[in-house]
Amino acid sequence: MPTLPAHAHYVIIGAGIHGLSTAMHLAQKLKIRGTPVGARGRRIVVLDKSSVGAGASGIACGVIRNNYFQPAMRELMAHCVSVWETDPDAYSYHAVGYMQISPEVMHQQVGEIYEQQKAIGYESVFIEGRPASQKYMEGIFHDWQAKNITSVLHEKRGGYANNMASLRGLTAKAAALGVEIIEGVTVTALNKGSRSAAIASVETSAGTITCEEVVVGVGPWVHSIWNMLELPQSISVKGRDGKSHDGVAMWHYMALQEGTLGVDPNFLKTNAGAMPPVVHVDTDAPLYSDRNGALITDQLWGLYYKPDFHFGGVQGGAMPAEVTRPADEVRVDPYGPQSPEFVVNDNFADMWTSALAHCQKRFEGQHGMYKKEPSGGIGCFTPDSFPVFDRFADNVYIIADSNHGYKMIGVGDLVADELLGQPRALLEPFRFSRYATGKSHPVSNSPFPWS
Ligand SMILES: Cc1cc2nc3c(=O)[nH]c(=O)nc-3n(C[C@H](O)[C@H](O)[C@H](O)COP(=O)(O)OP(=O)(O)OC[C@H]3O[C@@H](n4cnc5c(N)ncnc54)[C@H](O)[C@@H]3O)c2cc1C
Repeated sequence: MPTLPAHAHYVIIGAGIHGLSTAMHLAQKLKIRGTPVGARGRRIVVLDKSSVGAGASGIACGVIRNNYFQPAMRELMAHCVSVWETDPDAYSYHAVGYMQISPEVMHQQVGEIYEQQKAIGYESVFIEGRPASQKYMEGIFHDWQAKNITSVLHEKRGGYANNMASLRGLTAKAAALGVEIIEGVTVTALNKGSRSAAIASVETSAGTITCEEVVVGVGPWVHSIWNMLELPQSISVKGRDGKSHDGVAMWHYMALQEGTLGVDPNFLKTNAGAMPPVVHVDTDAPLYSDRNGALITDQLWGLYYKPDFHFGGVQGGAMPAEVTRPADEVRVDPYGPQSPEFVVNDNFADMWTSALAHCQKRFEGQHGMYKKEPSGGIGCFTPDSFPVFDRFADNVYIIADSNHGYKMIGVGDLVADELLGQPRALLEPFRFSRYATGKSHPVSNSPFPWS
């Protein structure tokens, strides 16, 4: 059984992107202040019930983009991209860029994103109109054929990173700074002190550890820690229209649908022979099966894809599926591809490979190359599907990214500042109080809940 120290100043639960990034940035900032980290200084201990990357961060497709309709998300993502850019090798970050390719129903909103990207100095190009969009895409991929496309937003920054490689990079940096990462330890309870609401100790499968601060970065398991803190299962949410909705479930789950076409990743090079930007297409053109010509949908649909040597093919996904059961009844473990219930099925394979063929001729007839291996995983979402970054019970900092988050490596940097007493304006729009005060984020026309 792993050995725990009796006390740590900071106990961080979860060794995913948020737990590790917070630990690493915190150690960096303490060192700059001249505060030693470790047994003879402030101890930072990261606990994980399994191992580094055992959660959503270890299976994420790894797409890193700025394209968000919500100004607060865009500004936060710009910060996150700048953190990825600090050390592309250690984070296994590929700065190939990102494209949002959209139908008319999204044209105006994506145009607003472009204008605001200009305003914050985030480099992108916006192409408008059907013929200009087609021409722009053919300039990158000669076989481009997606229908009903009237705008293309091409972000020159962002791209993707390799999930486990970036976590290993973060782990190495954190450990070198004195952070202790202890695997195979499950947090089972958070104990209050006798005289305050603050958490005084963390109970685990390997014993109890006293602490000053707790950071929660447990991704899809956030609901269980929320229960340990006895926080409300349902809340009132005031909409942007000023109307209150009572009894809204605090957490719900969605199943992320992703897969890989087992072709050589070089199959998707650009006309110039380069690795392409990550491609995200939404369209309202009818989608027909590449297998048998049957209509799959005539509603708005979307997909994203990229060539990826790490996944061994062209990898990507489509819209998530709602998990209709209440959060309490969802079995999060075993997680990801090991789950007996939440892996993608043949409908996804047909939809996604047909969507690829809809977009580029080179994918026609390639559906047989789809890798028939378990993939996908669930995410835990907030009422508005945007993150909550906030303190609870005085000294518990919850990082609940509502499944936006592998790309959000910069959140740990900001949270570390807040743990050291410096509030960060970029996190302010993500406080829990927004549900009561009606300061919610605007909603886009995208078929994805996180755009
Ligand atoms: C299939 C899929 C694809 C995705 N693709 C992308 C993408 O392309 N881009 C993007 O930005 N985001 C993507 N996401 C979302 C992203 O992966 C998550 O938002 C993010 O990784 C969450 O990070 P985390 O650190 O909060 O949690 P996780 O990475 O889930 O880590 C949580 C850790 O906490 C540990 N833990 C849980 N409970 C306890 C406990 N009680 N005691 C101790 N340890 C515990 C777990 O073992 C786990 O290792 C994707 C998600 C999925 C499921």
